[in-house]
Amino acid sequence: MGRVYDVLIVGGGPAGLSAALYSARSRLSTLILEKSKMGGQIAITSEVANYPGSVYSEGKMTATGPEIVARMVKQTQEFGAERVMEEVKSVQLDKKLKIIETVSGNIYKGKSVIFATGAVPRRLGCIGEKEFTGKGVSYCATCDADFFTDFEVFVIGGGDSAVEEAMYLTHFARKVTLIVRKPFFRCAKSIEERALENPKIEIKFNTELIEIRGEGIVESAIFKNNITQEEYEYFPNEEDGTFGIFMFVGYDADTELVKDILEMDNEKFVITNDRMETNIPGVFAAGDMRHKSLRQVVTATSDGAIAAMTAYKYLQENPMGELGGEI
Ligand code: NDP
Repeated sequence: MGRVYDVLIVGGGPAGLSAALYSARSRLSTLILEKSKMGGQIAITSEVANYPGSVYSEGKMTATGPEIVARMVKQTQEFGAERVMEEVKSVQLDKKLKIIETVSGNIYKGKSVIFATGAVPRRLGCIGEKEFTGKGVSYCATCDADFFTDFEVFVIGGGDSAVEEAMYLTHFARKVTLIVRKPFFRCAKSIEERALENPKIEIKFNTELIEIRGEGIVESAIFKNNITQEEYEYFPNEEDGTFGIFMFVGYDADTELVKDILEMDNEKFVITNDRMETNIPGVFAAGDMRHKSLRQVVTATSDGAIAAMTAYKYLQENPMGELGGEI
């Protein structure tokens, strides 16, 4: 029958890594499946200012997102959690033995599953966005800021991500313009204050990006003032010829894999109780993919820990001896 893990964890972000830590530490055989890069969104986040223990000192954070992820991964390894870099293609969760098939054709079996697949950057939906993604349009400042050294960039959005990443971009770009559709920010006041003090940041409220234009790369963009309805086309200076557009307009749940299997809310976030149990026994969800009020690294790691301990309790109450071990 092949190996049966006590806990299979889908997703290697903070929620999945925290679940793996608590699961492996409880001596449950644990496997994390991650499709691309361990760490999820914080792996591409420059500053994680509010994870307890991260300190802002002498103009920079004491730990960047990738550094926090590296520590979390090391910790799970030290307690014996295994991990494979494979994308999950399909899942069978209706029986006691849970089965996961990956795109590379491997089958993994588990007595329980914790989903921690997170969320993906939301697309703005303006004309030209798709065409110019990777050609001036980006969703990741940590990945692409360097390309815009000494150029101008626009950041779309008014939440924590937009404003924090705008500040990060000022280390590279000549000027950063924040485009906020409302007359106010949605981010934390402390973050807003730092942005307002930054001389490289200009803020345009009540403004929306309507269209991106160019020949192969971004060459102009049309913005609209949503109060006056006035539209204007922005062109970079001739020497630059181009500029960057970074989109930070929120995130959508990455729950396609469990569509029609796990119960979800209207926005496709998985519904759990406070023990992270889904509508299927032995199946748990943790982190940003869950219906919840606050999506932060600290709440993701908390979810992961709770999910793992609930899985532990589930396995105690449902021994499934006939499925266990190397059989
Ligand atoms: P949010 O959903 O908080 O903010 C999205 C922003 O994009 C809002 O300003 C929203 O405007 C704007 N927006 C959405 N759709 C459009 C659109 N079509 N056109 C123009 N603007 C649009 O997303 P974030 O990614 O900023 O944050 C997600 C979660 O992660 C939040 O809970 C946040 O607190 C957390 N986070 C925390 C950080 C921290 O504390 N250090 C860092 C990063 C994220 P409107 O207000 O009008 O809807």
